[in-house]
Amino acid sequence: MTIDVGATPDVAATPARRPNPITIIGMSGLRSIIIVSTSLAVLYALVAVVWSGNPLMVGGVVLLGLFYWTFLEYILHRWMLHWEPEKKHHKMIRKCFPSHRSHHNDPMKERMNIMLQLKITVYLSLVYTVFMWLIGVPLPVTLALNAGVLLGYQAYEYVHVACHHLPMRNAWAATLKRHHAIHHHRDETVNFGVTTTIWDSVFRTTWKPERAAKAA
Ligand SMILES: [Zn+2]
Ligand SMILES: [Zn+2]
Repeated sequence: MTIDVGATPDVAATPARRPNPITIIGMSGLRSIIIVSTSLAVLYALVAVVWSGNPLMVGGVVLLGLFYWTFLEYILHRWMLHWEPEKKHHKMIRKCFPSHRSHHNDPMKERMNIMLQLKITVYLSLVYTVFMWLIGVPLPVTLALNAGVLLGYQAYEYVHVACHHLPMRNAWAATLKRHHAIHHHRDETVNFGVTTTIWDSVFRTTWKPERAAKAA
């Protein structure tokens, strides 16, 4: 079943200037995100391998971290980015996190707060590493999990920019683009996953045509 998710402003109109999977790396601060996140992830993974002497374990935990990111992506998008508090002190807390409203108001606009987002990621990553180490989780495991989360984070940023700027015609990519387009153009209370639709299925927030029928 084909669902009209509105006009398709997410695809550049001029063929000559149409972005491709390589050129979008120059958009929305993606290059900085990829360089910083990859550097940190490689550093964490290398230290984990040297410390533990067990590259197989480190590889497995990195993969686990990648999967763990998809869960973080869902909860951060649903409960942090879409948190729009009324109370004054809650508003002050909200200001510490990147604005998401501006992205919903104009999805095609380059995100000006990308560096804030990147700084928060790096700080959280360091705080999380120290916290896990203090509560007794072996450092190589903590670092490997962190490396996977950072790789997942940059994949999220890439896929998100791609959803807005590329046609994404293969079946899997088209599903992600449509999933995110519905979040933007149909209903902001559904479809929070960007790199996967799994958690929307788990938390029952996948958009269904019946929702639109009920709302009408
Ligand atoms: Zn959103
Ligand atoms: Zn978006």
